Amino acid sequence: MKHDFLTRSLELKESLSKNRRTLHQCPELGTQLPKTSAYVKGRLEDLGYSVQEIPGAGLVTQAGTDTGKRILLRVDMDALPMEEKSGEPFASQVPGCAHTCGHDLHTTLLLGAAQLLKEREPELAGQVKLIFQAGEETLEGAAAMLRAGTLEHPRVDAVLGIHVMPTLPVGHLYYPKGTILSSTDMFEIEVAGKGGHAASPHLAIDPISTAAHIILALQSLQVKAVPPDQNVVLNVCQMESGSATNIIPDQARLWGTLRTFDNQLCRTIQERMKQAVTYTAQALGASAQLRFTEHCPCTYNDPGLAEALAECLTSFGTEFVTQPNYRLQVSDDFGFYSQQVPSVMFLLGCCPEEGKCYPNHNPYVRYNEKILTTGAALLAHCAYEWLRR
Ligand SMILES: [Zn+2]
Ligand SMILES: [Zn+2]
Repeated sequence: MKHDFLTRSLELKESLSKNRRTLHQCPELGTQLPKTSAYVKGRLEDLGYSVQEIPGAGLVTQAGTDTGKRILLRVDMDALPMEEKSGEPFASQVPGCAHTCGHDLHTTLLLGAAQLLKEREPELAGQVKLIFQAGEETLEGAAAMLRAGTLEHPRVDAVLGIHVMPTLPVGHLYYPKGTILSSTDMFEIEVAGKGGHAASPHLAIDPISTAAHIILALQSLQVKAVPPDQNVVLNVCQMESGSATNIIPDQARLWGTLRTFDNQLCRTIQERMKQAVTYTAQALGASAQLRFTEHCPCTYNDPGLAEALAECLTSFGTEFVTQPNYRLQVSDDFGFYSQQVPSVMFLLGCCPEEGKCYPNHNPYVRYNEKILTTGAALLAHCAYEWLRR
Protein backbone atom coordinates (compact mmCIF):
# COMPACT_ATOMS: atom_id res chain seq x y z
CA MET A 1 0.00 0.00 0.00
CA LYS A 2 1.29 3.48 -0.80
CA HIS A 3 1.76 5.38 2.41
CA ASP A 4 0.81 8.93 1.92
CA PHE A 5 0.46 10.73 5.21
CA LEU A 6 -0.09 14.07 3.49
CA THR A 7 -3.25 12.95 1.64
CA ARG A 8 -4.65 11.30 4.74
CA SER A 9 -3.80 14.33 6.86
CA LEU A 10 -5.88 16.60 4.59
CA GLU A 11 -8.92 14.47 5.47
CA LEU A 12 -8.30 15.32 9.15
CA LYS A 13 -8.32 19.07 8.53
CA GLU A 14 -11.52 19.78 10.46
CA SER A 15 -10.62 17.74 13.51
CA LEU A 16 -7.11 19.24 13.63
CA SER A 17 -8.56 22.74 13.54
CA LYS A 18 -11.08 21.84 16.25
CA ASN A 19 -8.31 20.49 18.50
CA ARG A 20 -6.19 23.57 17.94
CA ARG A 21 -8.98 26.03 18.69
CA THR A 22 -10.09 24.15 21.78
CA LEU A 23 -6.55 24.19 23.15
CA HIS A 24 -6.06 27.80 22.12
CA GLN A 25 -9.06 28.96 24.15
CA CYS A 26 -7.91 27.40 27.42
CA PRO A 27 -4.21 28.25 27.70
CA GLU A 28 -2.38 27.17 30.86
CA LEU A 29 1.01 28.08 32.33
CA GLY A 30 4.11 26.26 33.45
CA THR A 31 4.27 22.67 34.52
CA GLN A 32 0.66 22.34 35.74
CA LEU A 33 -1.63 22.02 32.70
CA PRO A 34 -4.66 20.14 34.04
CA LYS A 35 -7.18 21.02 31.29
CA THR A 36 -4.73 20.76 28.41
CA SER A 37 -3.30 17.44 29.64
CA ALA A 38 -6.78 16.00 30.20
CA TYR A 39 -7.85 17.02 26.68
CA VAL A 40 -4.72 15.58 25.02
CA LYS A 41 -4.89 12.40 27.09
CA GLY A 42 -8.55 11.96 26.13
CA ARG A 43 -7.86 12.35 22.40
CA LEU A 44 -4.91 9.92 22.61
CA GLU A 45 -6.98 7.35 24.48
CA ASP A 46 -9.73 7.70 21.85
CA LEU A 47 -7.07 6.73 19.30
CA GLY A 48 -6.14 3.63 21.32
CA TYR A 49 -3.01 4.92 23.06
CA SER A 50 -2.23 4.23 26.69
CA VAL A 51 -0.82 7.41 28.17
CA GLN A 52 1.60 7.90 31.04
CA GLU A 53 1.39 11.18 32.95
CA ILE A 54 4.64 12.40 34.50
CA PRO A 55 3.95 15.08 37.15
CA GLY A 56 5.61 18.39 36.28
CA ALA A 57 6.77 17.09 32.89
CA GLY A 58 3.79 16.12 30.72
CA LEU A 59 2.46 13.10 28.84
CA VAL A 60 4.31 10.18 27.25
CA THR A 61 2.98 7.46 24.98
CA GLN A 62 4.26 5.27 22.16
CA ALA A 63 3.33 3.53 18.94
CA GLY A 64 5.00 0.72 17.02
CA THR A 65 6.99 -2.32 18.00
CA ASP A 66 9.57 -3.02 20.66
CA THR A 67 12.12 -4.14 18.10
CA GLY A 68 14.07 -1.90 15.75
CA LYS A 69 15.08 1.71 16.17
CA ARG A 70 13.34 4.30 18.34
CA ILE A 71 12.51 7.87 17.50
CA LEU A 72 11.00 10.39 19.89
CA LEU A 73 8.64 13.13 18.70
CA ARG A 74 8.47 15.95 21.22
CA VAL A 75 6.12 18.94 21.38
CA ASP A 76 5.35 21.45 24.12
CA MET A 77 1.89 22.41 25.44
CA ASP A 78 2.25 25.46 27.74
CA ALA A 79 1.20 29.08 27.14
CA LEU A 80 2.50 32.51 28.22
CA PRO A 81 1.41 34.94 30.98
CA MET A 82 0.15 37.73 28.70
CA GLU A 83 -3.03 39.10 27.12
CA GLU A 84 -3.97 37.98 23.62
CA LYS A 85 -4.89 40.69 21.10
CA SER A 86 -5.03 38.54 17.97
CA GLY A 87 -8.69 39.28 17.29
CA GLU A 88 -9.27 35.61 16.44
CA PRO A 89 -12.82 34.39 17.13
CA PHE A 90 -11.28 31.53 19.16
CA ALA A 91 -8.93 33.78 21.19
CA SER A 92 -7.95 32.94 24.77
CA GLN A 93 -10.77 32.90 27.29
CA VAL A 94 -8.32 33.04 30.20
CA PRO A 95 -7.40 36.59 31.28
CA GLY A 96 -3.64 37.16 31.35
CA CYS A 97 -2.80 33.91 29.62
CA ALA A 98 -2.38 33.19 25.90
CA HIS A 99 -0.94 30.73 23.40
CA THR A 100 1.27 33.35 21.75
CA CYS A 101 4.19 30.94 21.21
CA GLY A 102 2.05 28.53 19.19
CA HIS A 103 2.38 25.53 21.49
CA ASP A 104 -1.32 24.85 20.91
CA LEU A 105 -0.40 24.21 17.26
CA HIS A 106 2.52 21.96 18.28
CA THR A 107 0.21 19.88 20.47
CA THR A 108 -2.29 19.64 17.61
CA LEU A 109 0.39 18.58 15.14
CA LEU A 110 1.51 15.72 17.35
CA LEU A 111 -2.08 14.65 18.03
CA GLY A 112 -2.53 14.53 14.25
CA ALA A 113 0.70 12.58 13.80
CA ALA A 114 -0.43 10.21 16.59
CA GLN A 115 -3.57 9.42 14.60
CA LEU A 116 -1.68 8.98 11.30
CA LEU A 117 0.86 6.66 12.93
CA LYS A 118 -1.79 4.67 14.81
CA GLU A 119 -3.61 4.00 11.55
CA ARG A 120 -0.41 2.48 10.12
CA GLU A 121 0.99 1.02 13.33
CA PRO A 122 1.54 -2.51 11.93
CA GLU A 123 3.78 -1.00 9.23
CA LEU A 124 6.09 0.79 11.70
CA ALA A 125 9.62 -0.62 11.58
CA GLY A 126 10.39 0.41 15.14
CA GLN A 127 9.02 2.51 17.97
CA VAL A 128 7.80 6.09 17.99
CA LYS A 129 7.73 7.69 21.40
CA LEU A 130 5.45 10.73 21.69
CA ILE A 131 6.07 13.43 24.30
CA PHE A 132 3.61 16.22 25.03
CA GLN A 133 5.73 18.38 27.32
CA ALA A 134 4.69 20.95 29.92
CA GLY A 135 6.83 23.80 31.27
CA GLU A 136 8.80 24.77 28.16
CA GLU A 137 8.49 28.52 28.64
CA THR A 138 9.70 28.18 32.22
CA LEU A 139 12.56 25.90 31.07
CA GLU A 140 11.53 23.21 33.55
CA GLY A 141 9.65 20.58 31.55
CA ALA A 142 12.42 19.02 29.46
CA ALA A 143 14.70 18.60 32.46
CA ALA A 144 11.83 16.93 34.36
CA MET A 145 11.18 14.64 31.37
CA LEU A 146 14.84 13.62 31.27
CA ARG A 147 14.94 13.04 35.03
CA ALA A 148 11.96 10.70 34.57
CA GLY A 149 14.09 8.63 32.17
CA THR A 150 12.07 9.20 29.00
CA LEU A 151 15.16 8.91 26.79
CA GLU A 152 15.90 5.53 28.39
CA HIS A 153 14.07 2.23 29.00
CA PRO A 154 14.67 1.66 26.17
CA ARG A 155 17.13 4.24 24.85
CA VAL A 156 15.81 6.39 21.99
CA ASP A 157 18.06 6.80 18.93
CA ALA A 158 16.78 10.14 17.64
CA VAL A 159 14.61 13.06 18.73
CA LEU A 160 12.54 15.28 16.48
CA GLY A 161 10.97 18.56 17.61
CA ILE A 162 9.06 21.29 15.83
CA HIS A 163 8.39 25.01 16.33
CA VAL A 164 6.00 27.15 14.35
CA MET A 165 7.44 30.39 12.98
CA PRO A 166 4.80 33.03 12.20
CA THR A 167 7.40 35.33 10.63
CA LEU A 168 8.32 32.75 7.97
CA PRO A 169 6.05 32.04 4.97
CA VAL A 170 3.97 28.88 4.72
CA GLY A 171 5.96 26.27 2.78
CA HIS A 172 9.23 27.14 4.52
CA LEU A 173 10.85 24.51 6.71
CA TYR A 174 14.26 25.21 8.25
CA TYR A 175 16.43 22.67 10.02
CA PRO A 176 20.03 23.77 9.51
CA LYS A 177 22.85 21.54 10.76
CA GLY A 178 24.57 22.53 14.00
CA THR A 179 23.45 25.02 16.62
CA ILE A 180 20.08 26.47 15.69
CA LEU A 181 18.90 28.07 18.96
CA SER A 182 21.03 29.77 21.59
CA SER A 183 21.64 28.80 25.18
CA THR A 184 20.02 30.94 27.85
CA ASP A 185 21.20 31.54 31.40
CA MET A 186 19.47 33.78 33.88
CA PHE A 187 21.64 35.32 36.59
CA GLU A 188 21.25 37.27 39.79
CA ILE A 189 23.90 39.43 41.47
CA GLU A 190 23.76 40.51 45.09
CA VAL A 191 25.98 43.45 45.98
CA ALA A 192 26.63 43.99 49.66
CA GLY A 193 27.84 47.45 50.72
CA LYS A 194 27.50 49.40 53.95
CA GLY A 195 24.59 51.72 54.43
CA GLY A 196 24.80 55.23 55.76
CA HIS A 197 23.82 58.89 55.46
CA ALA A 198 23.90 60.30 51.96
CA ALA A 199 25.87 63.27 53.32
CA SER A 200 28.74 61.00 54.50
CA PRO A 201 29.59 58.69 51.61
CA HIS A 202 33.13 58.24 53.00
CA LEU A 203 31.67 56.36 55.99
CA ALA A 204 29.56 54.06 53.81
CA ILE A 205 30.18 51.61 50.95
CA ASP A 206 27.78 52.45 48.14
CA PRO A 207 26.27 49.31 46.58
CA ILE A 208 24.56 51.28 43.80
CA SER A 209 27.75 52.75 42.47
CA THR A 210 29.40 49.31 42.84
CA ALA A 211 26.53 47.76 40.86
CA ALA A 212 27.05 50.35 38.13
CA HIS A 213 30.74 49.39 37.85
CA ILE A 214 29.75 45.72 37.71
CA ILE A 215 27.34 46.40 34.84
CA LEU A 216 30.11 48.14 32.89
CA ALA A 217 32.58 45.33 33.65
CA LEU A 218 30.07 42.79 32.31
CA GLN A 219 29.49 44.88 29.20
CA SER A 220 33.19 45.01 28.47
CA LEU A 221 33.33 41.18 28.75
CA GLN A 222 30.93 41.05 25.85
CA VAL A 223 33.50 42.94 23.78
CA LYS A 224 36.74 41.51 25.17
CA ALA A 225 35.96 37.90 26.11
CA VAL A 226 33.96 36.89 23.05
CA PRO A 227 35.70 35.84 19.81
CA PRO A 228 34.72 38.29 17.04
CA ASP A 229 32.98 35.56 15.00
CA GLN A 230 30.65 34.62 17.87
CA ASN A 231 27.40 36.21 18.95
CA VAL A 232 26.85 36.55 22.67
CA VAL A 233 24.16 38.54 24.43
CA LEU A 234 24.94 39.60 28.00
CA ASN A 235 22.36 41.96 29.43
CA VAL A 236 21.51 43.27 32.88
CA CYS A 237 17.78 43.89 32.61
CA GLN A 238 16.59 44.56 36.13
CA MET A 239 18.01 46.37 39.16
CA GLU A 240 16.76 47.03 42.65
CA SER A 241 18.24 49.13 45.44
CA GLY A 242 17.60 51.97 47.84
CA SER A 243 14.55 53.54 49.47
CA ALA A 244 15.16 57.30 49.78
CA THR A 245 17.33 60.08 48.36
CA ASN A 246 19.17 60.69 51.64
CA ILE A 247 20.10 57.08 52.48
CA ILE A 248 22.95 55.06 51.08
CA PRO A 249 21.48 51.54 51.04
CA ASP A 250 23.10 48.35 52.31
CA GLN A 251 22.69 46.33 49.17
CA ALA A 252 21.76 46.23 45.51
CA ARG A 253 20.49 43.40 43.34
CA LEU A 254 20.82 42.89 39.60
CA TRP A 255 19.22 40.38 37.26
CA GLY A 256 20.07 39.58 33.67
CA THR A 257 20.50 37.06 30.90
CA LEU A 258 23.38 35.45 29.01
CA ARG A 259 22.82 33.87 25.59
CA THR A 260 25.39 32.06 23.45
CA PHE A 261 25.54 29.65 20.50
CA ASP A 262 28.30 27.55 22.03
CA ASN A 263 28.01 25.66 25.30
CA GLN A 264 31.80 25.78 25.92
CA LEU A 265 31.92 29.52 25.32
CA CYS A 266 28.93 29.85 27.64
CA ARG A 267 30.90 28.18 30.47
CA THR A 268 33.96 30.37 29.76
CA ILE A 269 31.91 33.57 29.88
CA GLN A 270 30.24 32.43 33.10
CA GLU A 271 33.66 32.01 34.74
CA ARG A 272 34.79 35.43 33.53
CA MET A 273 31.54 36.95 34.83
CA LYS A 274 32.16 35.51 38.30
CA GLN A 275 35.65 37.04 38.36
CA ALA A 276 34.42 40.40 37.04
CA VAL A 277 31.66 40.58 39.64
CA THR A 278 33.80 39.47 42.60
CA TYR A 279 36.85 41.62 41.89
CA THR A 280 34.99 44.74 40.77
CA ALA A 281 33.08 44.72 44.06
CA GLN A 282 36.27 44.05 46.04
CA ALA A 283 38.09 46.93 44.36
CA LEU A 284 35.39 49.27 45.64
CA GLY A 285 35.35 47.84 49.16
CA ALA A 286 32.07 45.97 48.68
CA SER A 287 31.36 42.30 48.07
CA ALA A 288 29.18 40.70 45.45
CA GLN A 289 27.89 37.27 44.57
CA LEU A 290 26.81 36.02 41.17
CA ARG A 291 24.36 33.12 40.90
CA PHE A 292 23.07 31.48 37.74
CA THR A 293 19.43 30.67 38.44
CA GLU A 294 18.18 28.98 35.25
CA HIS A 295 20.00 27.29 32.42
CA CYS A 296 18.95 26.04 29.01
CA PRO A 297 21.59 24.65 26.66
CA CYS A 298 21.84 25.41 22.92
CA THR A 299 19.59 23.43 20.60
CA TYR A 300 21.91 21.47 18.34
CA ASN A 301 20.71 19.85 15.12
CA ASP A 302 22.70 16.66 14.56
CA PRO A 303 24.13 16.88 11.00
CA GLY A 304 23.68 13.16 10.28
CA LEU A 305 20.07 13.14 11.44
CA ALA A 306 19.32 16.38 9.54
CA GLU A 307 20.69 14.77 6.36
CA ALA A 308 18.69 11.57 6.93
CA LEU A 309 15.50 13.60 7.43
CA ALA A 310 16.18 15.58 4.26
CA GLU A 311 16.30 12.25 2.41
CA CYS A 312 13.09 11.09 4.12
CA LEU A 313 11.43 14.28 2.91
CA THR A 314 12.12 13.54 -0.76
CA SER A 315 9.09 11.20 -0.68
CA PHE A 316 6.87 13.48 1.42
CA GLY A 317 4.66 14.69 -1.41
CA THR A 318 5.41 18.39 -1.28
CA GLU A 319 8.64 20.33 -1.27
CA PHE A 320 9.68 22.90 1.30
CA VAL A 321 11.83 25.98 0.93
CA THR A 322 14.77 25.50 3.28
CA GLN A 323 17.57 27.70 4.53
CA PRO A 324 20.87 26.06 5.51
CA ASN A 325 22.15 29.07 7.48
CA TYR A 326 19.54 30.09 9.97
CA ARG A 327 19.69 30.42 13.70
CA LEU A 328 17.87 32.36 16.37
CA GLN A 329 19.10 33.90 19.60
CA VAL A 330 16.19 32.41 21.51
CA SER A 331 16.10 29.20 23.50
CA ASP A 332 13.83 26.21 23.70
CA ASP A 333 14.30 23.59 26.37
CA PHE A 334 14.38 21.11 23.48
CA GLY A 335 18.10 21.91 23.87
CA PHE A 336 18.25 19.48 26.81
CA TYR A 337 17.22 16.56 24.57
CA SER A 338 19.59 17.67 21.81
CA GLN A 339 22.56 17.54 24.20
CA GLN A 340 21.88 13.86 24.95
CA VAL A 341 20.58 12.21 21.78
CA PRO A 342 20.97 13.09 18.05
CA SER A 343 18.15 15.57 17.55
CA VAL A 344 16.64 17.90 15.00
CA MET A 345 14.26 20.77 15.53
CA PHE A 346 12.11 21.79 12.58
CA LEU A 347 11.17 25.45 12.22
CA LEU A 348 7.93 25.55 10.24
CA GLY A 349 6.79 28.78 8.55
CA CYS A 350 3.16 29.73 9.23
CA CYS A 351 2.74 33.43 8.45
CA PRO A 352 -1.00 34.13 8.27
CA GLU A 353 -0.82 36.79 5.59
CA GLU A 354 2.10 38.45 3.82
CA GLY A 355 2.99 41.73 5.48
CA LYS A 356 0.87 40.91 8.53
CA CYS A 357 3.23 38.71 10.49
CA TYR A 358 3.94 39.18 14.16
CA PRO A 359 6.62 37.17 15.96
CA ASN A 360 6.04 34.53 18.63
CA HIS A 361 5.30 36.05 22.06
CA ASN A 362 3.63 39.10 20.49
CA PRO A 363 0.06 39.80 21.72
CA TYR A 364 -1.14 40.28 18.11
CA VAL A 365 0.45 37.11 16.71
CA ARG A 366 -1.71 34.88 14.49
CA TYR A 367 -0.81 31.54 12.98
CA ASN A 368 -1.82 30.06 9.64
CA GLU A 369 -3.85 26.91 10.24
CA LYS A 370 -2.90 25.61 6.78
CA ILE A 371 0.17 24.15 8.40
CA LEU A 372 -1.83 21.85 10.70
CA THR A 373 -2.28 19.16 8.04
CA THR A 374 1.22 19.56 6.58
CA GLY A 375 2.86 19.63 10.00
CA ALA A 376 1.05 16.55 11.32
CA ALA A 377 1.92 14.61 8.16
CA LEU A 378 5.50 15.89 8.36
CA LEU A 379 6.07 14.46 11.84
CA ALA A 380 4.39 11.14 11.00
CA HIS A 381 6.20 10.79 7.67
CA CYS A 382 9.63 11.57 9.10
CA ALA A 383 9.21 9.11 11.99
CA TYR A 384 7.85 6.37 9.71
CA GLU A 385 10.53 6.80 7.04
CA TRP A 386 13.43 7.24 9.45
CA LEU A 387 12.55 3.98 11.24
CA ARG A 388 12.61 2.10 7.93
CA ARG A 389 16.07 3.35 7.02
ZN1 LIG B 1 7.99 30.77 23.64
ZN1 LIG C 1 7.80 28.06 21.98
